[in-house]
Amino acid sequence: MVIDTHCHLDAAEFDADRDTVVMRARAAGVKLIVTPAVQHASFGAVLSISQRYPGCIPALGLHPMYIHAHMPEHLDLLRTTIEQHRPVAIGEIGLDFFVPGLDATKQEYYFTEQLKIARDFELPVLLHSRRANDQVVKQLRRFGIRRGIAHAYSGSRQQADAFIRIGFKLGLGGAMTYTRASNLRRLAAELALEDIVLETDAPDMSPAWLQQQRNSPEQLPHIATVLADLRGDTLDTVIRMTTHNALTILSLSPEGILHHGST
Ligand code: ZN
Repeated sequence: MVIDTHCHLDAAEFDADRDTVVMRARAAGVKLIVTPAVQHASFGAVLSISQRYPGCIPALGLHPMYIHAHMPEHLDLLRTTIEQHRPVAIGEIGLDFFVPGLDATKQEYYFTEQLKIARDFELPVLLHSRRANDQVVKQLRRFGIRRGIAHAYSGSRQQADAFIRIGFKLGLGGAMTYTRASNLRRLAAELALEDIVLETDAPDMSPAWLQQQRNSPEQLPHIATVLADLRGDTLDTVIRMTTHNALTILSLSPEGILHHGST
């Protein structure tokens, strides 16, 4: 069993063929797909996807790249929706200091308010962090958040170690399939396997062989092969360990997955 710890199945890119995308992922061995929301308007879509497809489980959060859409009452909505629907994590949340025009103060506000929510509900967080790893780690420490995934990790070994020391796993996916991504590939080879989880971030972050075409969760086993090759591990070891890591960090049991998918 392979777990896609980060896939935007609710994205419009999947509207025409979502059933097929999920079916093909399952056929490829991807039995669990975590679908994080990015803004309050996508909570409903993410939840209905989790009801329609067993094994697709929701996370709820307000993403920093959608900062213009967020309003303080969405934080209240996030709390009440968590109480009603028990998502697996708070996400996708974080800080993005790479994309121009995203108000930094506002980003910090929504990020820290959601860390408080994660703390109150004892939920792990799915992090988006671009050019912001040090600031993100600082806030995680400040709010005592000890569990989550640094999604699409990119950064130094030192920053990776800071996330790991707190208790986080690093999410690796399509980016490491490009030979030019030498720093990331070295990191993927050197990290302990117990600190890594796999993800596609579909429909984005297409692996090299798709040549910029739409990414989908069925690509995950191929991505796992790349990780195994980079590390000199067997594919079986990579899949077994990263699946175990994902289940642990998200507090899921294999039975829990099926249960979650059917509620
Ligand atoms: Zn994402």
